[in-house]
Amino acid sequence: MERYIRFETADGIKWGALEEGKIAEIAGNPACGAEMTGIYYEPSQVKLLAPVEPSKIVCVGLNYREHVKESQSATKEPDEPVLFLKPPSALLGPGERIIYPEMAQRVDYEAELGVVIGKVCHNVAAIEAEDYIFGFTCVNDVTARDLQKRDVQWTRAKGFDTFCPVGPWVVNHIKYEDLLVESYLNGELRQSGRTSMMIFPVPVLISFISKVMTLLPGDLISTGTPAGIDPMKAGDRIEIRVEGIGSLVNDII
Ligand code: MG
Repeated sequence: MERYIRFETADGIKWGALEEGKIAEIAGNPACGAEMTGIYYEPSQVKLLAPVEPSKIVCVGLNYREHVKESQSATKEPDEPVLFLKPPSALLGPGERIIYPEMAQRVDYEAELGVVIGKVCHNVAAIEAEDYIFGFTCVNDVTARDLQKRDVQWTRAKGFDTFCPVGPWVVNHIKYEDLLVESYLNGELRQSGRTSMMIFPVPVLISFISKVMTLLPGDLISTGTPAGIDPMKAGDRIEIRVEGIGSLVNDII
């Protein structure tokens, strides 16, 4: 198992892998097959960034039963995955701040398992889909809930700058089928679900999306949130935890 990061140093933005207390630099995006350079950095001397550089962020709505029940955007479970996009400009790194938009009255957290694609993926069967996964990460699908209800589609509600915290790293080679997905608002547990509770599991999602659009190495899929969504306000701290991956913490300003 490796932990892949993207980070900033005095001489620019780099990719790397965490190795025994050091950062081993990688020549480019590891999801695109880049290799180690042999250069090492001290973790204390870098700032972590979102560990992905996707051409697109494909999100799945209403993918946990208990969340469908609490949601007002559906009355029954979907028959096929509900897809929407977040723009890559919404990406935010671990420890960076989520900006509460002036336009919104209610901004929610959504803890989700993120899947990073590792190979060009077009029209694949669910049974083959695992071959196209590079790794997994934590995603907070931040949502302006009032605007989501007001608009016919969700581009504005899901697309504000800073509305896609991701990280702190991408982990490869983990068993993803039954991981605990949690959120903590100011240290208090708010969401607790397991990836085994997804209506459409990860391989089905990859297959379905790949029949709509070609997924490229580095693309990010966010797989939906469990029940327990609630608003955040300026001054709050939100933490997303996914078992076997880590903890993604952001403050709201
Ligand atoms: Mg979501």
